[in-house]
Amino acid sequence: MADIIELLPDHVANQIAAGEVVQRPASVVKELLENSIDAGATYIKLVIKDAGKTLVQVIDDGMGMSVTDARLCFERHATSKIRSADDLFGIHTKGFRGEALASIGAIAHVELQTKTDGKELGTTIIMEGSEVKSQEASVVPKGTAISVKHLFFNIPARRNFLKSDTVELRHVIDEFHRVALAHPNVAFSMWHNGTEMFSTPSSNFRQRIVNLFGFKMNEKLVPVNEATELVDIDGFVLKPEFSKKGKNDQYFFVNDRFIKSPYLHHAVKSAFEGLIKDGYQPGYFLKFKVDPKSIDINIHPTKTEIKFDDEHSLYALIRAAVKHSLGQYNVAPVLDFDRDSQLDTPYNYKDKPVTWPTVEVDRNFNPFQEETKYRSSGFTNFKSKQKESWESLYVDLELEPKGDAESAVIGIEQDFKHSKIFGEDDTEVQIKTYQIFTKYVITALKSGMLIIDQNRAHQRILYEEYLKQLTTKASVSQQLLFPLTLEFTRKEFSVLDTIKEDLAHAGLLYSSVSDSKIEVTGVPIGVPESEVLTIIEDLISDVTQEIPDTNFGTHDMVSKSLSKSLAIKTGQSLSALEQEDLVNRLFACKEPSLSPFNKPIFITMALGDIEKQFKL
Ligand code: ADP
Ligand code: MG
Repeated sequence: MADIIELLPDHVANQIAAGEVVQRPASVVKELLENSIDAGATYIKLVIKDAGKTLVQVIDDGMGMSVTDARLCFERHATSKIRSADDLFGIHTKGFRGEALASIGAIAHVELQTKTDGKELGTTIIMEGSEVKSQEASVVPKGTAISVKHLFFNIPARRNFLKSDTVELRHVIDEFHRVALAHPNVAFSMWHNGTEMFSTPSSNFRQRIVNLFGFKMNEKLVPVNEATELVDIDGFVLKPEFSKKGKNDQYFFVNDRFIKSPYLHHAVKSAFEGLIKDGYQPGYFLKFKVDPKSIDINIHPTKTEIKFDDEHSLYALIRAAVKHSLGQYNVAPVLDFDRDSQLDTPYNYKDKPVTWPTVEVDRNFNPFQEETKYRSSGFTNFKSKQKESWESLYVDLELEPKGDAESAVIGIEQDFKHSKIFGEDDTEVQIKTYQIFTKYVITALKSGMLIIDQNRAHQRILYEEYLKQLTTKASVSQQLLFPLTLEFTRKEFSVLDTIKEDLAHAGLLYSSVSDSKIEVTGVPIGVPESEVLTIIEDLISDVTQEIPDTNFGTHDMVSKSLSKSLAIKTGQSLSALEQEDLVNRLFACKEPSLSPFNKPIFITMALGDIEKQFKL
């Protein structure tokens, strides 16, 4: 029998490869944008017509290509990004297969203009179905512009397979978002049929998200930051009340590459357990930095799935980091009620005009309805609730010195009703916590009962957290979208300067604009912008008072002052979850029994003592 095996001609092989790499206009968009990123572009412009079916053009100001490279880039397996198989295990670029341009060149009309830095002339090449139609030297700007026209012109079946412009445009926007989110430091713009759809300057991650998804997104974001040996996690989750029934905004990036991972999605979702309803999806924008050697990107041509060496640890770390952030957000002080009288501050609050504290929350959505009154949701009822809290606070203060247990009952919070102390099911005496007098959190122990002062407990928690941050210099800060300009007297300003470094480690980042004005660009996580001024004022006065006492380290001083300012106050009602979180975090502290100001945080009542009382 005669030999029948033949090598396929290049253009056929390329067409076959294209079937894998290029499914639709959005695939072209992805490949071209990523090439521009790899070329070190600082500005990338995407222009499409008819959802990319007629034209996809990407213009960048990257490194460009030499005359030879410009011709070679359309060959299959032609790449400048890896040289040997070993390089596959340390990939730092988006591309590495050398397949994209060859594939695109096989199924569209492509025009490439490119010029490297310092050269007078660049190159223009026109390709049609893997054939070079023309190549000439030409006057073009530095960088690369690639136009891909009439996609699938030679494969009608594929062309007919494309969906409506609306659907294809959505895919294009998705790809654009993914690349733009992965590289906030690169400026992008996107045009469709002559209209500018997006324009995003070089910025930080938070600003990039807001630029792409609208200003409303800003208040939904909860920062997540965790640096570990295995992975650095950085980004945001959406507050639980912004979870959605269908698919939400869900973005994972590994080493600046967008990826999909049902497994890691599960990790995030499980961190939201109990905070969102069944069937709802959390939203997130999370970036992971890992050692390139610990991942394998080489699984799928479109490269949105990757393999991790240590997936299980990654799962645990992500889950813990998200939980941690949500925890911080839940107990974040959002109301500024009266201060604990025992921690006299030199500021005379009575002289300040009384205003309702402002709370940054979603006003419409309450996933918890009656059961858990999340501070951040159910705002519609919140004002009256606030009032109740004020009133009960007032009652408490009046009653407290008398210690009159009978009349103090008035101050008992509604939460009492919801507590499960006498659970419906006797076998499961699942005693958690409940709050009384909007001041104490009570929890049962095997051997008795614990009454915890919420303000002091939270002071202790925050104090230890800040002290740790300040000594390890590992700060977490929440970037402000717009810097906050604050004015001080020269004297206050100079005091502030002495603790600038400590403040930075506590998350408060600022720069001086003049000798009395500062611009705050970052605040400790969970601190509302409206409170920043008061906190700094308190700090300055605390530091001024402490300065004569040279034994005091500034770490200690700053941590104390911040914990005092930011701790949840007496009079603030806490949801069941917040109470539980408070108790858990308190007992994770090194010194859970004393506040940073050496006041007792809780008292215990032993079961034996309680029983004795009943025998009287
Ligand atoms: P890969 O990105 O996997 O290397 P491509 O087919 O996408 O494969 O690109 C082939 C080569 O063409 C790249 O390795 C790069 O050297 C060059 N190239 C592609 N696009 C650009 C660009 N926008 N700027 C500079 N060089 C580019
Ligand atoms: Mg590429």
